[in-house]
Amino acid sequence: MNQIARNLEEVRRRIEVAARRAGRDPAAVRLVAVSKTVELDRIRQAVAAGQSIFGENYLQEAKAKVAALGPEVSWHFVGHLQTRKARGAVELFDLIHSVDRLKLARALEEAAALQGKIQEVLVQVDLAGEETKSGAAPEEVGDLLKEISTLPHLKVTGLMTMPPWFTDPEAVRPYFQALRALRDRLRQLKVIESPLAELSMGMSGDYEVAVEEGATLIRVGTAIFGSRS
Ligand SMILES: *Cc1c(COP(=O)(O)O)cnc(C)c1O
Repeated sequence: MNQIARNLEEVRRRIEVAARRAGRDPAAVRLVAVSKTVELDRIRQAVAAGQSIFGENYLQEAKAKVAALGPEVSWHFVGHLQTRKARGAVELFDLIHSVDRLKLARALEEAAALQGKIQEVLVQVDLAGEETKSGAAPEEVGDLLKEISTLPHLKVTGLMTMPPWFTDPEAVRPYFQALRALRDRLRQLKVIESPLAELSMGMSGDYEVAVEEGATLIRVGTAIFGSRS
């Protein structure tokens, strides 16, 4: 077994343990292997080890990978998306995790309409109010969701967050709890019809905590592929 297959096995095992600890079904957690900067042959090793969802941050880089591996696997966009790249993103990705502004949603709608596609998206939330981070402020999310729900070619299935970086994964727990609480509140208020079932949260350093707090999509790069150069 190669290192990537071993890493995947370990990540899956930890997801399962964390899910059971929280009384959750491990099958309710989907692993997105974040493959930015990872070369094709290493991605192929992950595919051979049974990994079926990959996350990319850069459109140009993703293009070649999607062309090479094709629809054999599912591709998610997890990075910051520029409005002018909406069209390319709609061509390549089954799920876009990072919709954080109406202008981008409208550009995606236009591209999806042209391509005759219903584009699944998540709304990215910036819970810490960090200037440098993408994401809608929590108090803006309700209005953004309402606007997106009027766009016929977008289907919003949940929320995503990328908390500030801490060495201690426990320090991130409140952010995961806050994303879930925000989702529950929006659901209760029936802001939109979607149950917002998806919570995309947790990366290599903290995905077990995210699973305990209700993540349905975790985005793991270095724990699978090793550190990025
Ligand atoms: C790079 C990246 C990840 C994966 O980070 P790791 O720490 O390598 O697991 C997850 N989410 C987003 C948005 C990223 O850009």
